[in-house]
Amino acid sequence: MRIPIIAGNWKMNTNLTSAAELVNALQTELTALVATGKVQTVLCPPFPYLDRVSALTRGTGIGVGAQDMYFESKGAFTGEVAPSMILDFAEYVIIGHSERRQLFHETDELVNKKIHSALANNLKPIVCVGEPLETYENGETDVWVRGQVHAAIKGLDAEQVRGLIIAYEPIWAIGTGKAATGPGANAVIGISIRGALADLYSQSVAADVRIQYGGSVTAKNIDEFIVQPDIDGALVGGASLKADEFIAICRAGLPK
Ligand code: PEP
Repeated sequence: MRIPIIAGNWKMNTNLTSAAELVNALQTELTALVATGKVQTVLCPPFPYLDRVSALTRGTGIGVGAQDMYFESKGAFTGEVAPSMILDFAEYVIIGHSERRQLFHETDELVNKKIHSALANNLKPIVCVGEPLETYENGETDVWVRGQVHAAIKGLDAEQVRGLIIAYEPIWAIGTGKAATGPGANAVIGISIRGALADLYSQSVAADVRIQYGGSVTAKNIDEFIVQPDIDGALVGGASLKADEFIAICRAGLPK
């Protein structure tokens, strides 16, 4: 059984005070939701606030994640953060977010190295894939997304793949207010992503991996995604910065 997982990607937002305020506003409700064992939640603050968010959520069951990492374990890589440094504060790490791919020129090869390194360091990767608008409009989403999945998980064994969380985030839906439709996202996740996993590994691996939808998810539209059979939660950007909104999204993850 795949337990839905709702992750909040705070991106480059909050400050030390507002990050703590946000956690405090979320804590009681999310702790109660997570205690049901039927939904998981993850907060992904900017690197400098991981320590604080981790301290504030300790013992609550609320997960903490980083928004990126480097694949090397130490050395002369100015500005980068090693997996072991993240592991001091967090158990999840977002890898291959489209903003990193587009703005910071991260390649499929780099994403693959980061996933190998995260798994080797006992971090749980949330691997982002998703097509740009032009690809979507040309009806080439399937080829694009399958290609990204193949490249991202190259060299992983079946057990490692089972440990991944994949987030399908069409780039045209991120931060635009134009979310995919529930059935549209479900089709890409079910056919392209689970299809790629079945081709590369087995039906059983494809059926075990948790796959989120991300892109303009709000408290208003979350139900449309969560009812879909192949969607196991959401990766939430903007709406994860508003406590009431994020709580409502996480609550929607509970089975009806
Ligand atoms: C994201 O950044 O992963 C995201 C899905 O953003 P938003 O919810 O704001 O579209």
